[in-house]
Amino acid sequence: MPSVVIIGSGYAGLCVAIRLAQAGMRDFVLLEQADAIGGTWRDNGYPGAACDIPSHLYSFSFEPNPNWSRLYPTQPELRAYVEHCVDKYGLRPHVRCGQRVTALRFDEQGNGWQVQTAAGGGELQARVVVSATGGLSRPALPDIPGLGTFAGAVFHSARWNHGYDLTDKRVAVIGTGASAIQFVPQIAPRVAALTLFQRTPAWILPKPDRPLSDAERARFARQPWRQRLARTLIYWTLEARAILFTRWPALLRRVQPQVLRFVARHVSDAALRSKLTPHYTMGCKRILLSNDFYPALALPQVRLETVAILGIDANGIRTADGAHHAVDAIIFGTGFQVADAGTPFPVFGRGGIELNGAWAGGSQAYLGSTVAGFPNLFLMTGPNTGLAHNSMIFMIEAQTRYVVDAILGMAARGVRSFDLQPAVQQRFNEWLQRRMARTVWATGGCRSWYLNRAGRNVTLWPGFTFDYRRRTRRFDWRNYRLG
Ligand code: NAP
Repeated sequence: MPSVVIIGSGYAGLCVAIRLAQAGMRDFVLLEQADAIGGTWRDNGYPGAACDIPSHLYSFSFEPNPNWSRLYPTQPELRAYVEHCVDKYGLRPHVRCGQRVTALRFDEQGNGWQVQTAAGGGELQARVVVSATGGLSRPALPDIPGLGTFAGAVFHSARWNHGYDLTDKRVAVIGTGASAIQFVPQIAPRVAALTLFQRTPAWILPKPDRPLSDAERARFARQPWRQRLARTLIYWTLEARAILFTRWPALLRRVQPQVLRFVARHVSDAALRSKLTPHYTMGCKRILLSNDFYPALALPQVRLETVAILGIDANGIRTADGAHHAVDAIIFGTGFQVADAGTPFPVFGRGGIELNGAWAGGSQAYLGSTVAGFPNLFLMTGPNTGLAHNSMIFMIEAQTRYVVDAILGMAARGVRSFDLQPAVQQRFNEWLQRRMARTVWATGGCRSWYLNRAGRNVTLWPGFTFDYRRRTRRFDWRNYRLG
């Protein structure tokens, strides 16, 4: 039985695998349900897909890449970077693609996990499971009446149909989040008509992006300290935003008039500007960066529709004002199942308790990593480890240190199982939710995917990332029952 099964080959799964390999461990496998590695940066191949965190910081601290083409990385580059890491750290022999996990079951006698996979009804045994299935991996398709009757093309931004030619088509895009504002400017020039259905306008800031020159890249390669310095400066600039998001949302409101001037500069039509003006505190939903979204809305073939969608029929979309929008294709930029989604497969812990059932009141963990009653299991980027202000790679590296310290420590200490003490989980989550109360996500007057149905924020870390890193520096054995 392999000591460790890692599920998912995005940044998080790979980071754990790299660190285990670097520690000299060979006894692990990495299961990936798709036929290629790469997680979110494999799936989100829509036109214009890019990251809104600068390149120097959206990469592993131990694997700088002097060759980024731009200040902000594009999806093809991120995908290539992930592939490069797999090769450089010798992970290929550990990766098993096409292995969709269908259930995890803890074996109390054996102190290990039975990992069921769909492929041939297979089953693996593992002492430890690291579930790195990603928070934004399951597309959310709204349940719009009649969707199944639509005769044209339908797809989601994270499952882009590259075989469908949008040229001269009448296209409906539903949603105006981080993904849609990236692909709309890319497709708008070549479609016959684009109707963009907006439910809630986003706060959009200019993206300070530009290509990196050959000379700059050569300097980063020759003098790696330059890139480290750039990384450090970016980190602290972004980290400072945590103060606004989590302590003083009122300061965010002070910046809003300046942002509205940016909208006014780009959108001359007063009626359109009014539709694009958010009525909640900036930061309550993810702040978006774009230089080309507002200009795209000014194109004659693009129309912003804010009337609610009532239903879909074979030819198009019906809205609440009685209008019918005939289209050839509908593209959903409607985001992902997150806060209420639970785990993508059932996880049966001690006593056969199922994790999604245990989470009926809202998902929770300790340090977003472990859950009482589910021994020897780590959730990468688990509950309340998401960020709205800085790079997830930073959180992933911090969490990886915690996970790998435990895995290596088990062998060193002769520990066969560790199970979080329920009181630790409870104390931690009470603290976390107390912190949450002051944040812009709770007070900003919006409804975001950060919150679950009950209005509880189960996705974001309500503080500084360096605080999370401090808490995850070492595996805290005293908080666990050891077997
Ligand atoms: P999203 O931010 O959740 O946006 C979904 C959009 O669809 C929203 O405008 C939402 O409106 C709308 N929507 C959802 N259900 C709808 C319905 N039934 N009818 C009408 N509109 C509906 O999703 P996303 O743009 O895919 O981004 C998800 C997350 O991925 C981001 O927040 C970000 O964390 C990440 N992402 C990051 C980058 C990056 O640059 N790093 C790029 C893309 C995505 P409401 O606002 O009214 O709910």
